[in-house]
Amino acid sequence: MQVVSELRFSADTAPEEVLEKAAARFAPRIAFATGFGMEGCVLLHMISARRLPIDVFTLDTGLLFPETYELWKRLEALYGLTIRAVRPEQTVEHQETAFGPDLWEREPARCCDLRKVRPLRRALAGLDAWVTAVRRDQTPERAGVGLVEEDTRFGLVRINPLAAWSAADVRAYVERHGVPVSPLHARGYPSIGCAPCTTPVSEGEDPRAGRWRGFARTECGLHTKSGTNETKTENMERTTS
Ligand code: SF4
Repeated sequence: MQVVSELRFSADTAPEEVLEKAAARFAPRIAFATGFGMEGCVLLHMISARRLPIDVFTLDTGLLFPETYELWKRLEALYGLTIRAVRPEQTVEHQETAFGPDLWEREPARCCDLRKVRPLRRALAGLDAWVTAVRRDQTPERAGVGLVEEDTRFGLVRINPLAAWSAADVRAYVERHGVPVSPLHARGYPSIGCAPCTTPVSEGEDPRAGRWRGFARTECGLHTKSGTNETKTENMERTTS
């Protein structure tokens, strides 16, 4: 993809510069999808502080923690941003009627496909680039992400401004700029998703070990190269621990 080679950055390019150049290149056809993790809050601060013309949305599955909904409103008020809600076609109640109760307990891949992946695909249609809060050291699957890369799954350019940052870099930025973050982090949730699928982690556990605990799953399908095989096989991979 030619655009990816146009937007080349050195490995130590600051995230703010990546965001500025991406906005200059792609606005108004660029959006940031935040899940209100600590990294997402950092990027919201960077976008608002520079008044970058980047649309911001979140995938509101209808199953987020109350603390996440509160943080969403707080960040909007503090930064003067509108964080659009992108919602699934079905409410939680309609999904229950169609697939039975607590689909996430039985088929999390299907549930994530319905409530996250399909809505994201709709939200990205017509855009040229999207910004994510992914960091390389979060999971082995994310280890190879670049600052800018082609997203073959959704058919656009993906910008990962924090790809090279560590968790300590993120915490330092949050402290330096007084960025509000979820109170759940202090209660043992380093990674926060939907309430039914997120548990606290113990000391020494992988930061994403609390996501879909009991399943061989650490990603919801938004940041994987291909969701097809994942959706077909993953539901059978419930672990015994
Ligand atoms: S994280 Fe859980 S509740 Fe949320 S969409 Fe995925 S399976 Fe469903």
